[in-house]
Amino acid sequence: MTFNELGLSSDILKAVSEIGFETPSEIQEKSIPVLLGDDRDYIGLAQTGTGKTAAFGLPMIEQIDTDYRAIQALVLCPTRELCLQIAKELKAYSKYSKGIKVVAVYGGANISEQIRDIKKGANIIVGTPGRTIDLINRKALNFDSVSKLVLDEADEMLNMGFKEDIDEILKSTPPFKNTWLFSATMPKEVEKIASNYMENPFKVTVGTKNSSAKNIDHRFCLVHGRDKYYALRRFIDYAPGMFGITFTRTRREAKEVAEKLMNDGYNADALHGDLSQAQRDTVMNKFRKKNLQVLVATDVAARGIDVDDVTHVFHYDLPDDIESYTHRSGRTARAGKSGVSIALISPAKSSRIRLVEKQIGKKLELIKVPSGNDICGIQLMNLIQNVKEVEVNEKGIAPFVAQIHENLTDFSKEELIEKFVSVEFNRFLKSYAKAGDINVDPSKVKKGKDRERTSSGRPSANRVFINVGKMDGFENKGQLLGFVCNQSGINGDSVGKIDLFDSFSFMGVDEGIGEKLINAMNGKNIENRDIRVEFSNEKPRGERGGRRRSGGNSGGGRRNSGGGSRRRSEGGGNRNFKERRKRR
Ligand code: ADP
Ligand code: MG
Repeated sequence: MTFNELGLSSDILKAVSEIGFETPSEIQEKSIPVLLGDDRDYIGLAQTGTGKTAAFGLPMIEQIDTDYRAIQALVLCPTRELCLQIAKELKAYSKYSKGIKVVAVYGGANISEQIRDIKKGANIIVGTPGRTIDLINRKALNFDSVSKLVLDEADEMLNMGFKEDIDEILKSTPPFKNTWLFSATMPKEVEKIASNYMENPFKVTVGTKNSSAKNIDHRFCLVHGRDKYYALRRFIDYAPGMFGITFTRTRREAKEVAEKLMNDGYNADALHGDLSQAQRDTVMNKFRKKNLQVLVATDVAARGIDVDDVTHVFHYDLPDDIESYTHRSGRTARAGKSGVSIALISPAKSSRIRLVEKQIGKKLELIKVPSGNDICGIQLMNLIQNVKEVEVNEKGIAPFVAQIHENLTDFSKEELIEKFVSVEFNRFLKSYAKAGDINVDPSKVKKGKDRERTSSGRPSANRVFINVGKMDGFENKGQLLGFVCNQSGINGDSVGKIDLFDSFSFMGVDEGIGEKLINAMNGKNIENRDIRVEFSNEKPRGERGGRRRSGGNSGGGRRNSGGGSRRRSEGGGNRNFKERRKRR
């Protein structure tokens, strides 16, 4: 199959071939003809790196009526990075399509400039949900003429707490449009969006559902928590030329691991939510240019990163939310390449491996952390290879050659080889001279006796339950985090994944933080209701004890209630939240 057979116009084909795409990927081949021809909703399920942007971008550009000055297509995506990336791709695809104007709108950037760009006649908007809403409220965006709406990385958007924002944006688009939803995974929440907002969608699935790309080797090793950093270093040293991302659960851990690596002489840096946008851009640019060998990132910060040639993804910890595993490992093996995903697992969490295996539909291979000897062997061979391959700049060194010979004349060839090798290699010999075996013997990991596992199959020591949720006016996870940090004095760094429900929430926390939160928060109140925080050791059972709320329906009822009444109740809640904030 070639791009020529898909029904695209010559302007687009020219741009595509200039970009260097030769044959359409599977999702492109299956989607483009449908999206060009059929006036209907669509769901595309495919792993990251399979070319979804062009799958929706090409037919979208094709169907813009450039004689008509209005926004005709909207692409919503979870992060600023992704937003910029998609806009850039769409611009490249439409290089020869006259009159196409793509504008990216995202937070953390000058809004007036974005408004000016929109006014210059944008017909395609690529936006993050937050900024898009902001611009709708400022009357700078009008979606009355939108006929194509794309929800890209729908699962990620929901993971990040954009459900309400998406609902609101969808309400500002006309009913006759086509909605195209793309996702790597299809959790219940995405199914709900699909059933609420789409009509008889055409569904395309590429690869197995919820599995990650085929050319990733999924592996894990067993090490104690205290040895994780050393394990990471050994894997890095064992793969000269590796270029990778290490994922951590919390911002603090991202910072700590990156700092240790830098201190130990690696080209590493951290990417997490505590950095300003400008700092994040700097880190990402360094990584993109491969000036960094290892990026240490939290899940949220690394979402949607599309950097080619990532060889390794490390999981310093498995994510709280197992679905994130797919997104993490999908950062490698992009565009048909292969890659390795390695999870560093402590014995206490070994049973979570099974959850990952269920998620990706594949076994993870247990591997050993390389020994000091293995690493020295690999590094030595790499050094020798480099010496063999290096190009000698004869002219450049000519003026010094006589002097060099004079200095080294007393050494034999054998001695010289040993000395030159040692210059580079002593570092590794020294690091690994006393390196022991840090692997935990898998037969010693007790099955079913997992300290952190509980009846619901979730870890509990690192997860707390709190009896506040959306009904208390928290519109998103960030607001809840802000409130909890304010009230308890803990640092946002030490909080990982947050699950915000209607009347309660869960938070992943660093070691020791759970106790702090419990001590600090219990006894405080919110709207005359006692706040209760406890270690999460069972599944939420809907409303938990002690709720006294007038006029609040149960969580299930709210979803199906009429749009009008729901909006009112959420609006009220938000106002309360803001007032409360001011008072405190
Ligand atoms: P996804 O959205 O599925 O994660 P992207 O659309 O970001 O994937 O594409 C991943 C990479 O593959 C990008 O670098 C993109 O330029 C490249 N790519 C997409 N389609 C093709 C193609 N048909 N041939 C070659 N490379 C492609
Ligand atoms: Mg994508």
